Amino acid sequence: MTGRLRVAVIGVGHLGQHHARLLSTMDGVDLVAVVDREPTRAKAIAEKYGTAAFTEASDVIDRVDAVSVATPTVTHVEVALPFIEAGVAALVEKPLAAGLDEADRLVDAAAGRGVLLATGHTERFNPAVAVALPLVSGPRFIEIHRLGAFPERSLDIDVIFDLMIHDLDVLLATVASPVVSIEAVGVNVLTPRIDIANARLRFESGCIANVTASRISRDRVRRARFFQKDSYVSVDYAAQEVEVYSLVPQNGGRPVIHGGRVEVATDEPLRRELSDFVEAVRTGRPAGVTGRDGRMALSLATRVAEAM
Ligand code: NAD
Repeated sequence: MTGRLRVAVIGVGHLGQHHARLLSTMDGVDLVAVVDREPTRAKAIAEKYGTAAFTEASDVIDRVDAVSVATPTVTHVEVALPFIEAGVAALVEKPLAAGLDEADRLVDAAAGRGVLLATGHTERFNPAVAVALPLVSGPRFIEIHRLGAFPERSLDIDVIFDLMIHDLDVLLATVASPVVSIEAVGVNVLTPRIDIANARLRFESGCIANVTASRISRDRVRRARFFQKDSYVSVDYAAQEVEVYSLVPQNGGRPVIHGGRVEVATDEPLRRELSDFVEAVRTGRPAGVTGRDGRMALSLATRVAEAM
């Protein structure tokens, strides 16, 4: 498509306000509205970013080419589906939906109408992940930790669907092999939901991934380590740092390990995610993380939850 893209953000709470901030300054994009059920919230964010405020998503359907949906997960289907059915491209925050049936409704509606559907798996747009993923090839063992402080938000879902799903999506993007078995344990500490989770995933290739997520930690850690036959790749998502070490064969002797920090051009992952979405809408190419990718991550998260 040519011309300026008319975009609205639906749900401008903790995360959606940043969607509005970034879209309001993006080249070729007009942020024509923000929508929030809370009128004072909608008005405050609209004033801040120079756009119109609405409280009902249905009021903006005819005014937009694309929407980003950052309402609570349980509302994703009811909010996003009418846009998709009206032919409006949608970026839906992760997790794509509250359950697989709902995710299927979004994916099927988008496929049926030929409408672009993207999922907000922001970590895949982290510049450190973009640098590291091409360096990961045939991993044998993967260790991932995502530990954060108690959020007071997203407590309607288990930590698997709130935090661990980011890493499950990264795993699906790195290990080109089906998950054949899962062992998992979850503990509820401060909420009736699971606040700490650990899962050990075995892939058909033989690769094992050990993934830990916590939302009640004093430490803040977001780190993935990929162990391969001849090299080791380490990613610090938060610091946006990547280290790579490789085995260098020696004539007749034991190989030596060489490596160190790899250059990463740091940037805001959400900016890259939104730019990718806008470019996908403009050019008609698939989004960097599609609705189907979001559905696959949700499916794996559901299997982890069932294994507990
Ligand atoms: P939040 O509660 O802070 O904000 C949600 C906002 O949506 C609120 O302002 C609420 O009034 C509004 N709202 C609720 N129902 C609505 C409706 N039907 N129409 C319009 N507005 C409505 O929640 P949050 O922490 O910003 O999370 C929102 C979504 O973003 C969740 O799906 C969450 O999982 C996801 N999220 C993703 C990331 C990431 O890294 N990609 C990070 C945080 C949150």
